[in-house]
Amino acid sequence: MASHIVGYPRMGPKRELKFALESFWDGKSSAEDLQKVAADLRSSIWKQMFDAGIKYIPSNTFSYYDQVLDTTAMLGAVPPRYGWNGGEIGFDTYFSMARGNASVPAMEMTKWFDTNYHFIVPELGPDVKFSYASHKAVTEYSEAKALGVDTVPVLVGPVSYLLLSKPAKGVHKTFSLLSLLPKILPIYKEVVSELKAAGASWIQFDEPTLVTDLDSQTLQAFTEAYAELESTFSGLNVLVETYFADLPVEAFKTLAALKGFTAYGFDFVRGSKTLELIKGEFPTGKYLFAGVVDGRNIWANDLAASLSTLQALEGIVGKDKLVVSTSSSLLHTAVDLVNETKFDKEIKSWLAFAAQKVVEVNALAKALAGHKDEAFFSANAAALASRKSSPRVNNEAVQKAAAALKGSDHRRTTDVSARLDCQQKKLNLPILPTTTIGSFPQTIELRRVRREYKAKKISEDDYVKAIKEEISKVVKLQEELDIDVLVHGEPERNDMVEYFGEQLSGFTFSVNGWVQSYGSRCVKPPIIYGDVSRPKAMTVFWSSMAQSLTGRPMKGMLTGPVTILNWSFVRNDQPRFETCYQIALAIKDEVEDLEKAGITVIQIDEAALREGLPLRKSEQAFYLDWAVHSFRITNSGVQDTTQIHTHMCYSNFNDIIHSIIDMDADVITIENSRSDEKLLSVFREGVKYGAGIGPGVYDIHSPRIPSTEEIADRINKMLAVLETKILWVNPDCGLKTRKYTEVKPALKNMVSAAKLLRTQL
Ligand code: GLN
Ligand code: ZN
Repeated sequence: MASHIVGYPRMGPKRELKFALESFWDGKSSAEDLQKVAADLRSSIWKQMFDAGIKYIPSNTFSYYDQVLDTTAMLGAVPPRYGWNGGEIGFDTYFSMARGNASVPAMEMTKWFDTNYHFIVPELGPDVKFSYASHKAVTEYSEAKALGVDTVPVLVGPVSYLLLSKPAKGVHKTFSLLSLLPKILPIYKEVVSELKAAGASWIQFDEPTLVTDLDSQTLQAFTEAYAELESTFSGLNVLVETYFADLPVEAFKTLAALKGFTAYGFDFVRGSKTLELIKGEFPTGKYLFAGVVDGRNIWANDLAASLSTLQALEGIVGKDKLVVSTSSSLLHTAVDLVNETKFDKEIKSWLAFAAQKVVEVNALAKALAGHKDEAFFSANAAALASRKSSPRVNNEAVQKAAAALKGSDHRRTTDVSARLDCQQKKLNLPILPTTTIGSFPQTIELRRVRREYKAKKISEDDYVKAIKEEISKVVKLQEELDIDVLVHGEPERNDMVEYFGEQLSGFTFSVNGWVQSYGSRCVKPPIIYGDVSRPKAMTVFWSSMAQSLTGRPMKGMLTGPVTILNWSFVRNDQPRFETCYQIALAIKDEVEDLEKAGITVIQIDEAALREGLPLRKSEQAFYLDWAVHSFRITNSGVQDTTQIHTHMCYSNFNDIIHSIIDMDADVITIENSRSDEKLLSVFREGVKYGAGIGPGVYDIHSPRIPSTEEIADRINKMLAVLETKILWVNPDCGLKTRKYTEVKPALKNMVSAAKLLRTQL
């Protein structure tokens, strides 16, 4: 019985690749140094899988930045602005595409399906001259082979590659990217032939777009592409790999009809209907790579349950045709539990990071073949039982309270325009009120204070004093700038989710549980393992201190339940909405405590609400329903005079605008500055919006300082489609990553622009 891993994290157990990359980019180390770190990481990963007994070990899943960018390099699809003159693509061109350079900006980056991984979006058009310009897939295969490991080279499939790309600048939006298939397939053929010549007997094509809603024309492109590639497949075994959701029936039929494939890889974790699909029909004589070990979380597998799924599958596809696999690449989970020094034994026994998942896959394969490691299986069963019954996981009162929420509406009783009137009486704000999103620049000094406090190097008193000083500075600055609704600047927070996770029960934190977000950037998501509750108030101390320093309204600043959920590793023993409702109740208590403490404006950030949107349209309404409900729960108990703000970090919310309205916040601030037209078009098309709205008037992601005229011009464009009395003026996100030398003049111009327009209205 065989085992397979779809893909593996590249960063290394202690983010070795991150540090090597950043040191190379800073000019502190050479290309050879970087290559050496990368080669060591690759070889240790291959060896680790080999020693664990994995039969189908992936190669070419390593990347210096991103696997889609690697594919762009493979196809020589370098946008002309990088001045590449042909030949094998080197670090210069590669990293310029990824990160930009002194004279040209980077290529765009976007989310890889519903993960927090970002890929570099290919820019294509009818004039792109494709050529085979990166032999990385072959080099990596040969490198592993030289180490004695015969791997399965992994390629981003040609159809998914095109579907994930966008028309280059100047190319019309309606350009059919799939029309480029005939131009890229010859290069894929070359790659396949070279891999074969190098000794590869298996190749894996990742075609994850197959799990999304595709029309029949797009499915036809798969048929054409793989029928065309088939001629190079002789003597090769070809695995087509899908992940992140069920395969729709039509997509399954398309694949099953293709002769060129030897094997199909499906996600049996998220694909809850996949088993049924395969029961219906599975092409005879083909292999099924069954992804039963979750690549998207950090929980130990339920080995007994997986084994019974696998046994059922074996009955359908045949004993020698079933391969045990991961549900997706392990890129989306943490690397290795070995380096976790802070978890206690019990919690650790509930977890499995990538390295442990490799062992699980192999144990399942061995068990299927009749060599069950009884000790391993019973330790797993014991860990699962302890997780199920642990008092650390279960809090009956919380469970009851959350269960009671289902089915009810939790909506503020007064409608939003009447509420805004009540609030205005109290707040007495000018038209076009100005505010910011929450954080102010986080200086090195500030980070040092937090770090030293955490390490108990400075006393609580000293810490409070330092943070209070910082808050006073930020308050004073905002008063000088004459901003209307103030923030405290969030100096006590390192991260908007971690800050709350650390204070809520049911959360734990790893030391090294990093997951690649993009390039060298990694995030360390909190782990939600138990019922969530709030032992005590989390922000009231700082918010009321900040409010005491000014006569202007000071916004209480919270992270919303959906964002906390979407940026954490979430428990898999109850539905996500259940966990979300629990967090919502904890935040509700905080909102009410802030209100009691005299805070009249409270912002509940839902930066990541859209991120949790399921890939398949059929599942989106249900998600939006409980996500929006969770948000409303947090503030359903406040008085009409308390103004609830929310903030969102993306502008492409046109498709979910009705859900956003349904959140029923009093004011929403949203990122907008990079796509004005797109956002405003919703309102131009007649969507009725009665609440306050602050589309960001300048881009905080850039160090550029916008002029007063430019900002005024932006606001004027907004006024053309939005009523004057609902418009707010604010930057498009928090100012945490900016310098004071940028923030001060930018905010000064922002306030001037608002004042200028007030005189004209
Ligand atoms: N209040 C947060 C801040 O300003 C919001 C950050 C975010 O939306 N990502 O930093
Ligand atoms: Zn934001």
